[in-house]
Parts: sequence; structure tokens; C-alpha cells
Amino acid sequence: MNKVSAIAAALVAALGVFANKPAQAAGLDRLYILNCGEGTAGDISRWSPGVNVGKSMPFVDNCYLLKHGADWMLWDTGLTDALAAMPEGLKPADPAATHWYRPKTLASQLEALGVKPSDIKYMAVSHTHPDHIGNVEMFPQAMLYVQKLEYDWPGANNAPRFKPEHPVTKLEGDKDVFGDGSVTILSTPGHTPGHQSLLVKLPKTGNLVLSGDAVHFKSNWDNRGVPSGNFSKEQTLASMEKLDGVLKKEHATLWINHDKAQRDTLKMAPGYYE
Ligand SMILES: [Zn+2]
Repeated sequence: MNKVSAIAAALVAALGVFANKPAQAAGLDRLYILNCGEGTAGDISRWSPGVNVGKSMPFVDNCYLLKHGADWMLWDTGLTDALAAMPEGLKPADPAATHWYRPKTLASQLEALGVKPSDIKYMAVSHTHPDHIGNVEMFPQAMLYVQKLEYDWPGANNAPRFKPEHPVTKLEGDKDVFGDGSVTILSTPGHTPGHQSLLVKLPKTGNLVLSGDAVHFKSNWDNRGVPSGNFSKEQTLASMEKLDGVLKKEHATLWINHDKAQRDTLKMAPGYYE
């Protein structure tokens, strides 16, 4: 090889280093954490059978707003905004369950960010419990991503879980929402039949997994505690293992939706992660 072609080869090799860099999740710009409820869990042994019987615990409820280029996506919609007008909050029928309040509406937090409900192009919910789907119909135009198993799961009195006219993409497994790996819905059944979590890749913050209710608080994650009311204990444990694998593979941090101690360490909107 002469000198010129050796230099050319070296240049090609150097360029190859760049070409082989892992695909940048350049598409996702920001993540906001919105306050979608606060409450008190009456007896946390409901979530961790046999542990801390009779002990109450503060819970929070988050929604997450993602900005991807010109598009907005909402992950979970929290408790209904109507709850903000109820000073006594929503007292559960079972005192062991969670007594929820809504200190701020979702609508007011979006407005403060200059985001109109009609700007939300995509929406996904972790599952169909009331503390996650309370405001789905504030976004009648948003494409809803939900697992088919969750969508088809009969509600009370066989009622459908969503308005049949709401635009929907029924998933059967994981889904790369924007096609660039920046936001991936992960099928994590167990809490409910079609529960899902969200892998988010931010350019500066790094990779996050938003738990949904695959786990409710850190000690349950550490000890693989499964709430007594979950749809399937086996699926819950398998989903926790799946998430553990994703966390390791993606060097991701787990953000647990209802864990107040963790949320107290995080920036709430209008602050954001990028
Ligand atoms: Zn929940």
C-alpha cells in the first residue's frame, strides 16, 4: 500500500468509527413530569402482602409529557381533573386503598407550558385503572396506544374501557413509537392483562424506564413484591424480570410512577429533562 492509499484507508477507518456509532435517539427533545395526583395509601400491605401491615404511605401519581420534534406525546393521564374541585378528595370504598387528591389539574399544567390539548398527537396509558386514564377524553384527537388485551378487557358491567370512537392503535407487544428508538412501549402484563411501561431515550439525561404500575414503590421493586389485587402474579414477576433486563441492557434508570420518595428527588414541570 502506498502512502496516499494508506492515508485514505486511515481516513475511511476513522470515518467508519463515526458511522458505527450507536444510532442517536436525536428525535426526543424533552420530558416533563406533571403532577397528576397525590394521595395516601391506607395500608401498604395491599401492595406488599404481609409487609408493613396497617401502615399507610404517601403516594403520588405522575403523567409524563414528551416532546419529539414538533410532536407531543402524553404517557398516562392521571386522575380526572374533576377531582381538583373536590377538597375532600376521592375517599376509597376500601380504607386500605388510596385516598386521592388533585392539587393541580392536568389542563392547567399543559396550559402553563403553552401546550393545547389539541397539540397532543400521541397518547399511551400504562393501564386502565382510574388513576391513569382519568383524562383520556381531554384529547379526543390523540392516537391512543394501548395493548389489545387491555383494550378488550371488559370493564365494570362489561363496559368498554375506552370510547369506541377514540382513535386507537391496539398493540400486541412492544412498540417503537417514533421509529427511531427514542420512545418504546414495553409490554409488561401482570398488574392488569395489558399493562405496559415506557422506555425513553433522552439525549442528555440518558435512558429511563417509566414503570407505570409494573411496580408501585422501590421496596416492592427490590423485593419483587406483588400487590394482592394484581391480575396475575406470575406475569407481574415475569414483567419485572423483563424490565430488569431492559434496565441493564440500556443502562436505564427506573422511574416508579407512584413512588413519592423518588419523585421528591425529581424536577417537576415547568422544569424538564432533555
Ligand atoms: Zn396506579
